Amino acid sequence: MASIFSKIISGELPSYKIAETDEFLAFLDINPNAKGHTLCIPKKEVNKIFDLDEKSYLDLMVFSRKVAIAIEKAIPCKRVGMTVVGLEVPHVHVHLIPLNSMEDIRFLNKASLTTQEFQNTVKAIKAYL
Ligand code: AMP
Repeated sequence: MASIFSKIISGELPSYKIAETDEFLAFLDINPNAKGHTLCIPKKEVNKIFDLDEKSYLDLMVFSRKVAIAIEKAIPCKRVGMTVVGLEVPHVHVHLIPLNSMEDIRFLNKASLTTQEFQNTVKAIKAYL
């Protein structure tokens, strides 16, 4: 069965898209740790990040870096943190999270954003891509 993220790629499910290439997609996390929390995924559905072939893994890092640099310019924060978990969605995704404190990377405190705030965040990040 297709993962939630494959359904986002196919357009079956909506998302707040930040960036897209033939191989990768970046979109806002729907339950963000902080405003600007973004997920970068390969379009190829692979469960675990270290099961990606080496080229896809490195290309995902290059793609994620570009998105992270744009997030850091658009969202006031001390830095953008990167983490990979994957316990909830079995489709490789890199979390890019604007950090102001250690709490922001712990997946305990969540930011509540309105649709308008999600849309404004997309616009703000895309302006730097
Ligand atoms: P994990 O698999 O533990 O790394 O976490 C999966 C992440 O995907 C969580 O931060 C969720 O909030 C996020 N997520 C789940 N469904 C969606 C969705 N439809 N759109 C955007 N983000 C999602």
